[in-house]
Amino acid sequence: MVPHASDQHLRRLPKVELHCHVEGASRATTIKALADRHGVALPVSDPADLYDFSSLNQFLGIYDIICACLRTADDFRRITYEALEDGANAGVRYREMFFSPGFVIRLGVPVATVWEGVRAGLLEARHDLDIHARMILDFDKPTGPAHAMEMAAFAGAQDRDLLVGIGADSVERDIDHRSFAAAFAEAGRLGLRRTIHAGEDGPADNIAVAVHELGCERIDHGFRLLDDPDLTAEVIDRQIPLTVCPTSNVVIGNVVADVASHPLARQRELGVLATVNSDDPGMMRFDIADEYVAVAQAFDYSLDDMETISLAGIEASWAPDDEKSALRHRFVAEFDALRQEYGLPTRG
Ligand SMILES: [Zn+2]
Repeated sequence: MVPHASDQHLRRLPKVELHCHVEGASRATTIKALADRHGVALPVSDPADLYDFSSLNQFLGIYDIICACLRTADDFRRITYEALEDGANAGVRYREMFFSPGFVIRLGVPVATVWEGVRAGLLEARHDLDIHARMILDFDKPTGPAHAMEMAAFAGAQDRDLLVGIGADSVERDIDHRSFAAAFAEAGRLGLRRTIHAGEDGPADNIAVAVHELGCERIDHGFRLLDDPDLTAEVIDRQIPLTVCPTSNVVIGNVVADVASHPLARQRELGVLATVNSDDPGMMRFDIADEYVAVAQAFDYSLDDMETISLAGIEASWAPDDEKSALRHRFVAEFDALRQEYGLPTRG
């Protein structure tokens, strides 16, 4: 019989996470403390109620409140460190995490201050915790191509081992993705890896633009990929990874009714290199371990399937080859040890 893993087993399963926003991973209690320190009025008195939302608009409203509480480098250090601590507790051993300075730049915080804090939190976490992380600078699409170019230049000037790539997030509607071609070209010239949120609430054509005209090596979400069979064939052939966030697509994007209706299972059947991620684990109060449980239940995935999904994260990552190979060895050894501990047969 093919074994299914318990929730606790899936929480402890070693994982890679490639789609997680540091702002959206922040703890409500920390945002409350920072709001008090900086004199920012919150709409709720109990931090437990801060992350209550039922629509994308409410979600974006809370996102703005979080950003309004992030003022100093130390604020960014703290949320970066805590996001990695929470990730480690969900079994994440390697993470490429987004930070999106566009929101706070508008509020007057320079990107250099943001990076100073994020970098410090990252280095502290590398020292203290059993999770290795790199950052991806996401520019804000609605702010436009000049902001994108500025962010590419800034990211390109930082230590590549800490700031590995550039991405772009926020809404797709009314955004001409081709307008970012120059910024992505500059990022490529500077040796940055490239990804983009595409085909989440926008059409598969945005994924095609990302792959064909922006030089993106990975697609965040890619929910609508299967709408375009030719593009799907190309994404499979080139093994361009998707960073899929099923529960986020249900509760934030509202693009699918439930995880069982999500195209993830069909994508995997076809041979898409699809990874599983949490997106905004703090705000959703739902981390990648919860996501693994949800995906296993929704698609009746065995433990073998979930281990394969975990390994796909290593494949899809931008870690150097020697690091990927070390991660694979470590993960497989941990898979075996966990199976033994839970009295399950060895991996088939
Ligand atoms: Zn995202």
